[in-house]
Amino acid sequence: MDRDSLLNPGSTIGIIGGGQLGRMLAIAARQMDYRTVVLDPDSGCPAGQVSDGQLAEPYSSRDASRELARLTDVVTYEFENVDADSVSAAAELAPVHPSSSVLRTTQHRLHEKNALLKAGVSVAPFRQVQSLSDLQSAAVDLGCPMVLKTATEGYDGKGQMIITREEDIEHSYDLLAGRKTELIVEQFVPFKMEISTICARTAAGQTQTFPPAENIHRNHILDVSIVPPRIPDSVIENARLLAADIAVQLDVVGLISVEMFVTKENELLVNELAPRPHNSGHYTMDGCDTSQFEQLVRVLAGLPIAEPKLHSPTVMVNLLGEVWEDTDGDPDWARALELPGVSLHLYGKAEPRVGRKMGHINVVADTVEDALYIATEARDRAWRRSR
Ligand code: AMP
Repeated sequence: MDRDSLLNPGSTIGIIGGGQLGRMLAIAARQMDYRTVVLDPDSGCPAGQVSDGQLAEPYSSRDASRELARLTDVVTYEFENVDADSVSAAAELAPVHPSSSVLRTTQHRLHEKNALLKAGVSVAPFRQVQSLSDLQSAAVDLGCPMVLKTATEGYDGKGQMIITREEDIEHSYDLLAGRKTELIVEQFVPFKMEISTICARTAAGQTQTFPPAENIHRNHILDVSIVPPRIPDSVIENARLLAADIAVQLDVVGLISVEMFVTKENELLVNELAPRPHNSGHYTMDGCDTSQFEQLVRVLAGLPIAEPKLHSPTVMVNLLGEVWEDTDGDPDWARALELPGVSLHLYGKAEPRVGRKMGHINVVADTVEDALYIATEARDRAWRRSR
């Protein structure tokens, strides 16, 4: 271990972005007596509420990210739509993990796919789309259905459309072409399951992967993560090896979250990377002996990382703003928490809007089936939807 880059407790971690991921990172940091300063324009943001300091400035301000680096010993970011030039500016004054070059690769779908191909990783066949005729010839090569996506600034299904028929090509192109970003089109993968794995890698090159999660989306937003996934152990092991390989090949220091499709033949195709903690890793807070957030604190501090173990089957359900809708503003947490194995995590967001991630529930149980049943029931009870 490189003792020179070891940051002892009492040192300060800078976090660009003040959402729920930053909040849970700050809480994990505090547990080990590290301090945090958050850069986020919203002074009431979830991470700012639990941090030692906040710079209420725009993410795109290079002066603000330099100031963050001056105030802290190491800097990270909790979302990837942050301005990469601001991250580079912070890196002039403090170590930034993962590096701005990892960020640049992962915030642009074309760069990301090309990096994955270069690393020998399988992805859905895709084409770059710069014109309508590019999309028309892609349809000849890839066949419908296809998924047209903006290369940047797409998340939770925003900026993407499924093209099921050739007649829809022109209309779909018109809808996305005005977005001031490049486009990419992919073959539609008739996957049997979506899974994700998070890998941590230290500056010295040590890697550890978390147990993969099976992810179910609703309206393009993660709804449920089930751990372990209901697929053969050999596929789970392959997913872990693949995530570790990607972390090494991209030279990631920090966390890399790898979303994959599992095909009917149990082949793994990587869909997307995120160089940060991930919603599908929230189960680790209660299901593993080390959470994704603690693991990231360890990387940032230059400490050894843990070999994370799942101690019980665990299911996470997201709590979106909808849960507040029919409850006069107070979901029935007491009834949800009557159930065994339930942990409630809320993000301190004042305004519960539809689709907004307000919190999550983790359930640990003896079997995946029990955890899934209890998690769904707990959310329904909070939502006051169960009898
Ligand atoms: P993404 O923003 O790329 O993570 O896509 C959001 C969701 O859309 C994924 O989790 C999948 O459910 C679906 N999706 C994206 N790309 C494809 C594809 N090529 N084939 C099938 N489904 C896809």
